[in-house]
Amino acid sequence: MTAAAFPPTSGAASLLIVGGAVLDVVAGTTREADIRIEDGWIVEIGTELDHRGTERIDASGRVVVPGLIDGHVHLTAFSADFRVVESAAPSYVYAQSARIMRETLGRGFTTVRDLAGADHGLARAQKEGLLAGPRIFYCGHALSQTGGHGDMRLPGEDHVPGSRGYCGIGTIADGVDAVRTAARDEIRKGAHHIKIMASGGVSSPTDRIDSTQYSIEELEAAVGEAEAANRYVAAHAYTARAVNRALRAGVRSIEHGNLLDDESISLFLERDAFLVPTLVTYWALKEEGREFGLTSDMWLKVDTVLETGLEAIRRAHLAGVNLVYGSDLLGGMQRHQNEEFRLLGQVQPAIDAIRAATVTAAELLGCSGELGVVDEGARADLLILDADPSLDIEVLADIGEHLVSVIQGGRIVHTTDAAVQTSR
Ligand SMILES: [Zn+2]
Repeated sequence: MTAAAFPPTSGAASLLIVGGAVLDVVAGTTREADIRIEDGWIVEIGTELDHRGTERIDASGRVVVPGLIDGHVHLTAFSADFRVVESAAPSYVYAQSARIMRETLGRGFTTVRDLAGADHGLARAQKEGLLAGPRIFYCGHALSQTGGHGDMRLPGEDHVPGSRGYCGIGTIADGVDAVRTAARDEIRKGAHHIKIMASGGVSSPTDRIDSTQYSIEELEAAVGEAEAANRYVAAHAYTARAVNRALRAGVRSIEHGNLLDDESISLFLERDAFLVPTLVTYWALKEEGREFGLTSDMWLKVDTVLETGLEAIRRAHLAGVNLVYGSDLLGGMQRHQNEEFRLLGQVQPAIDAIRAATVTAAELLGCSGELGVVDEGARADLLILDADPSLDIEVLADIGEHLVSVIQGGRIVHTTDAAVQTSR
């Protein structure tokens, strides 16, 4: 796979994609059609569209699907150790993020939801075309209690954790007033959602996975501030106890949720909330964790968490919970971003795994009809593939073998098609 071209391979304002089989991810069907794109938007889908004066791509024998959305990434996480990231110079973190963004786009993800790290600067640079990469929906820093999943200090460190301008993933806020201030500050900086750490995690040095974090009052304060700004709260939570109290406090998306229970499923349905499972992280730890210093005891535990997580997704899927694709990979493991498709494919039909990375993710972002569909009136974010992923999810899991072109905002930003490359 070649790297995404930058500046974009094509800057044409209008483009016609001819003869491809277009996947309707909502209906789960494909039909042969031409797609007319004007100024970044899909304006017409039909047969034998007039192509005079328009740049044209021949997609016959190929499949056109919506650009993928990864609902949980960390674009600044060039290392799996967040302490390394937060002590690096912002200029260095930026350079690494630019690489991560370019590679993400080359894996077919034209939009991402960043769950701590990316900020208004990266989003702006992408939007203005200074950086090649996915569209970014960001939260800025994640709100964490002292000693929570966003607090990377070791027990022997007593310095006041970084100010809100630094490159760490978390900001420490304790108490209702501080949580309100921190949430308002992220909203001031354009956050699309507020991330809170509602349970312990793996990558923070002093907390326990089975701990709950933040009081109900603090959780509700974050939700109140987000809702006041027409935003929502995403909560990091593993155990059923943490998941359920976050959902009751009004959190809209649960990140991970591996150990959810039947009550969690009822709460998801009752509140129309979203689950972003991020199983590939555990898969990657299982595959490569030994190289990253995981002890054999921990390595065996990862297997259990992965199996439990798969079972949780199977149950959530059967119950009709909104599921969103999320990879949550850090450092060198980010290259496995598409493996989540293979894992989802084990517990749900291929089309549902595709919906998790398209229509359902777009709904969580508040962009239904605009992202995640190939439809008139949608943004022209499209992939051209050499096979139909709704028939075999491996097409997206092994995307490097099947991706022909990535079109973002109506421009070809990546292609392996020699005909397209030589026609310009
Ligand atoms: Zn994460």
